[in-house]
Amino acid sequence: MTNENKKIMVTKSSLPGLEEYIDEISDLWDTYWITNMGEKHKKLERELEKFLNIKNLTLFSNGHLALESVIESFGISGEVITTPFTFASTAHAIVRNGLTPVFCDINPDDYTLDVNKIKELITSKTSAIVPVHVYGNVCDVIGIKEIADKYNLKIIYDAAHSFGVTVDGVGIGNFGDASIFSFHATKVFNTIEGGAVTYGEDSLKQSLNNIKNFGITGPETVSEIGGNAKMNEFQAAMGLCNLRHIDSEISKRKKLANRYISNLSEVQGLKLQKQKPGVKSNYAYFPIIFDGFKRNRDEVFEKLRTQNIYSRKYFYPLVSDFDCYRDEYNSDETPVAKYVSERVLTLPLYADLPLEDVDRICEIIIKMGCKE
Ligand SMILES: *Cc1c(COP(=O)(O)O)cnc(C)c1O
Repeated sequence: MTNENKKIMVTKSSLPGLEEYIDEISDLWDTYWITNMGEKHKKLERELEKFLNIKNLTLFSNGHLALESVIESFGISGEVITTPFTFASTAHAIVRNGLTPVFCDINPDDYTLDVNKIKELITSKTSAIVPVHVYGNVCDVIGIKEIADKYNLKIIYDAAHSFGVTVDGVGIGNFGDASIFSFHATKVFNTIEGGAVTYGEDSLKQSLNNIKNFGITGPETVSEIGGNAKMNEFQAAMGLCNLRHIDSEISKRKKLANRYISNLSEVQGLKLQKQKPGVKSNYAYFPIIFDGFKRNRDEVFEKLRTQNIYSRKYFYPLVSDFDCYRDEYNSDETPVAKYVSERVLTLPLYADLPLEDVDRICEIIIKMGCKE
């Protein structure tokens, strides 16, 4: 295949060597214990607590059910302030708990919740804030905590994008009352499908385990109306393998992201995301904003596609513009989110993307911005 015919997708799942995975799963043929919080599940919970530098972690079958379950565990009602610039899961998890999402606008630099716009959305019905560390960019965790403390609100971070991110050495999962992570195939760290809740309060553990396993608390006792959101042993085994390589995966991503930055940062009309000081990034995504560029976002998206390069309009449309929400919401009320969503493109980024491909992608984009 020539360079031009090779497909470059926006992401590519990290997989361990086949031998390594087979080695990891082989003892499942001794025990026949393949799900229901087996040995690998237990081991992965412990190892992730260590790696993410957090007190408690409970695994789930996916990130969405982790979020739905932790919201449920707080037994809250009424309204929840969140962002429309996110994946469908964030708002859906709120609604599927019988709560009402209230969409708050975002910052133009890092696309996380604009803390100055939260207060005006708080009513007597507000019970929680669900901010998203978009692309692994860290929310204003201090500003959000101040507001939550003042109005007695729970904070549940959607940290689906931020596996391994630290702030001044503190693991990202330590902020708020709880955080959720996604270990979906497309995320920086994957267990094929999977997710987790991290939290400081020990008493949450029992509640989360009940929700994820039918409320079963003993051989003959069912004490809650829980669902089923358990991670199985094959998923946990994938996690144990992928965790061994995560540092090198992230450092490969870093090299690629830095190449994008050095190629694109001086280009007229392109805006790159800003990192807060003290943040160790996981280089999960490489979003660029077309703002005053000669061509618009959709034109660049199409041009790349003709070259077999698949970028992603992530996040477009805004959640508040989805068919299932747009009758209830007006996305004009979050103008920054709307602006960003109409102009953002995330470029291909995954650990074994060749540097030459990054250069080629940048070249195509830069050429489109040149005057003819
Ligand atoms: C991926 C993702 C989720 C959901 O995670 P799954 O593991 O796919 O269920 C939630 N929120 C955000 C922001 C995500 O990107």
